[in-house]
Amino acid sequence: MGIVGRLSEGLSRTTQHLVRRFDELFSRADAPGQRSRSLDVDTLDALEELLIMADVGLAATARIVAAVKARPRGGLSLRDLVKDEIRAIFAGLPSAPPANGYAPKVVLVVGVNGTGKTTTVGKLAALLKASGGRPLICAADTFRAAAVEQLDIWAGRAGVEIVRGREGADPAAVVYDAIASGKAKGRDAVLIDTAGRLHTRVNLMQELDKIRRVAAREVKGAPHEVLLVLDATVGQNGLAQAREFMSAAGVTGIVLAKLDGTAKGGIAVAIAYDLKLPIQYVGVGEGIEDLIPFSADEYVDALFEEKW
Ligand code: GDP
Repeated sequence: MGIVGRLSEGLSRTTQHLVRRFDELFSRADAPGQRSRSLDVDTLDALEELLIMADVGLAATARIVAAVKARPRGGLSLRDLVKDEIRAIFAGLPSAPPANGYAPKVVLVVGVNGTGKTTTVGKLAALLKASGGRPLICAADTFRAAAVEQLDIWAGRAGVEIVRGREGADPAAVVYDAIASGKAKGRDAVLIDTAGRLHTRVNLMQELDKIRRVAAREVKGAPHEVLLVLDATVGQNGLAQAREFMSAAGVTGIVLAKLDGTAKGGIAVAIAYDLKLPIQYVGVGEGIEDLIPFSADEYVDALFEEKW
């Protein structure tokens, strides 16, 4: 199955939950004879309700509804107007940082425990390897022995080497070792799994900061990417978590894990609109191949796929 098919399958809970209602709304609004008329209040209210049910969030929903209302229809279908406005939200984001130029590229993966961070590091290693890359995994969550064991299993599945420290070792020292090993062995990426929780939030942010400083000393411009993993099933609550990491960890992009586990896949729009960060990858399952690069166009098409 291609990426489009897998994204569509990953969104199937969302579309199953909402497709009939969206289709009913669109078929009424887009019926012959209706397309030249302006949209009535009931239609706009129904659209607003459905977007909120999909977890698009209040702010992004308000913007979409206002934009659709303000636009002359000119024969366009409501379905296409909505798709256009959602695409516009994604199009306004900074693009992903340049992917290469430094060797090894250092990618820091951050996020709260349980969001899917460790799994994401394993899947990302497999994805990079499958496209010809030579990644290395670094287990810098030395606080949780179980997390290191998990990551070790993922590294084995991906067929990618892992650098790990003893339990309780200084995570920044493990990062130093991993980068040194990556340089010595000609790896093109070092993927660093970090702790998702320490005794206090301040400890955690200080630790991430120390890792950043060590990485920056060893490779120019490192970390080149800081990916924040968010759990799609947590919905809007994830946005508050995200803001904490954004201010302290210099997040450059989002990985939206467990998109397959929610009927509220509109959360990707809320993330883009509220956090103004690009979504780099989405997780669509628990297998090693279940991480796909995010494309706004494919996402919007999958979300509003015409079923009837
Ligand atoms: P961490 O504590 O953030 O490192 O989280 P883990 O990587 O251990 O993942 C927590 C749970 O979420 C595990 O049971 C994973 O199998 C599951 N998980 C992670 N990503 C996905 C995904 O994209 N889809 C689904 N369905 N489950 C996922």
